[in-house]
Order: sequence, then C-alpha cells, then structure tokens
Amino acid sequence: MRDGRPPLSVVIPMYNEESVLPILAERLRDVLDGLNEPYEVVAVDDGSADGTADTLAKMRTSWDQLRIIRLQRNSGHQAALLAGLMRASGDYVVSIDADLQDPPELIPEMLQKARADALDVVYGVRVDRTTDTAFKRVTAGMYYRLMRRLAGRQVPAQAGDFRLLSRATVEALRELPERAPVLRIVVPWLGFPSGEVTYLRAERAAGETKYPLSRMVRLAADSITSFSAAPLRIATWLGLLGVVTSAVLVVVAFGAYLVSSTTPGWASLYVAVLFLGAIQLLCLGLLGEYVARIYTALQGRPAYFIAEDSGPPE
Ligand code: UDP
Ligand code: MG
Repeated sequence: MRDGRPPLSVVIPMYNEESVLPILAERLRDVLDGLNEPYEVVAVDDGSADGTADTLAKMRTSWDQLRIIRLQRNSGHQAALLAGLMRASGDYVVSIDADLQDPPELIPEMLQKARADALDVVYGVRVDRTTDTAFKRVTAGMYYRLMRRLAGRQVPAQAGDFRLLSRATVEALRELPERAPVLRIVVPWLGFPSGEVTYLRAERAAGETKYPLSRMVRLAADSITSFSAAPLRIATWLGLLGVVTSAVLVVVAFGAYLVSSTTPGWASLYVAVLFLGAIQLLCLGLLGEYVARIYTALQGRPAYFIAEDSGPPE
C-alpha cells in the first residue's frame, strides 16, 4: 500500500439486498483474497429499509477490508455508485452490482488487463443478455444505439456499470462540475485509454430488480438531455411541420367553403386541433426536460448525503 492507498477498491451500491449479501460476500471474498494484494470493498448502503445495514455491520466484524458507507436516504443506483467512487481510495476502482449479475470472478482479469495494456478504463461488456427480460433487452438496445449517436462511438454498446477505473479517471470524474453525471456515458466521453472484457450476464442471485420502468425512463432522459440539445430541435421541426400542415388545411377548408354551401365537416377541424395540441404538448415537454436540468444544476444540491462512513481498512 502506498500512502494508505490499496491497489484495488470494489464499489458496490446496494438497496434492500439482504438476501444476496451472504452469497455476494462469499464469492467476492474468495476472488479478492486470491489476489494476494491489499484491497477494500466499499459497500454503499443506499438507504435500505431491510436488514442490509445490519448484515453489513455483522460482516465487517470478520472482514477487515469491508468499508461501509451509508447514505442518508435512498438516492438511486447512480447516486450510490457515485458516492462509492468518490470515497474509494484504490489505485484502481471496480464498480459492480450487488446482485451477482456481473461475476466478481472477472475482477482479476480486468485488473490484469488494465495493468498489462496500461488502460485507464476496462468495461465489462455483456455478450449475452438472455437472462434479462425481452423488454429490458429491447429497451437497452435502443438506449445504447441512441447514446452512441449522441455521445459518440466511444460509448461501448452493452456496457453497464460493471467496470474498472484508474485513479486518474476517478480524479477526472471528481473535477466535473456536474453533480449527478450519468457515469456510463460520461466515462467514455472522458476519453481515457480503454479496453473491454466480455461476460455472460447471469440471473439475479436473489431478491428482485430495483429498476422499475420509471427509473429506466429517468436514466434515459437524463442521459439524452445531458449530452444533446437535438431533442430541442425536434420541437422546431415539429412546429414547422405544424405550420405547413395548417396552411394546407386552411386552403382546403376555404376551397370546400367555395365549392359547397353545406356545413364544412368538423372532422378536419378536429384533426387539426388535436394535431396542433399534441405538437405543443410535446414541445412543452421537451422544454420542460431541459429546464428541469438547468433547475437542478442551478440548485447544485449533491446527489447524495453520506450518513456514515466506516473508513478505509487500516
Ligand atoms: N440499487 C441502489 N439503489 C437503488 C436501486 C438499485 O443502490 O435505488 C443497486 C442494487 O442494489 C443493485 C444495483 O443497484 O446492486 C443494480 O440494481 P438492480 O440489479 O435492481 O437493477 P437491474 O440489474 O435489474 O437493472
Ligand atoms: Mg441486477
């Protein structure tokens, strides 16, 4: 250890994961003890309401390398991950989910690859997601394609938050003024030399997903609005389309009035009103997304509050 810095930190955000903790600890400990190097495990308890905190505290009595950071309240996966990264002290920092969908056995390979090829970032890339639901696979596919278009080709497809970062990368993240960066987009954007290791995504070892649809939508909206103003331009184009369409409709309506003396059909009117209403709502919504982003950025509130940090291992 150099100036109290272990070569490796492993950051694990967890929310109500008491059922997987024993299996996680066993597998992770096997792997990490096998490295024969000092390390720390940073467990970030994201305001769990079950026995996660107690289980962690109990584990720590027989596992000196376990460091527990407890957040004041549930702040979400990304915030918990960030809290762990910002506090981790290792030369390399690996982030991994608690549910064992990402195999801890891959950590030595990531570390070895980073050292051998002098890489700052090693992504865990999922080559097969058949264990995820079809819905999750389809939406994830769309998400990664979109993000590659917006944030650039360097965003690896199918790389979640299982990755290794060098100290330099973590320090770069620390310098970003953003309070809540979407890590899986911002990390590639930083542009450090990177590599990949591939793996099969396993089934959740126990417990249930903590990512309901609403959170997936949130993550996607944050990713997009933090990297592109293109959606705002959609509003302009839709507005233009609306103007042209209504101009045509005006001509049509006037023509109909001249040709026949019967009451003009209300259908065209109805369609036009609906159409314009929809466009306006859409554009307002888009503006709202960006205004919300400006608003939260301006408030500058941290993404999380740390209630307790047991500190790095001696
Ligand atoms: N998680 C968290 N805070 C939350 C939601 C999830 O720290 O508010 C953690 C969770 O315990 C897990 C990781 O984030 O370690 C990924 O969540 P999950 O496995 O439920 O997501 P999925 O794999 O279904 O996308
Ligand atoms: Mg999971």
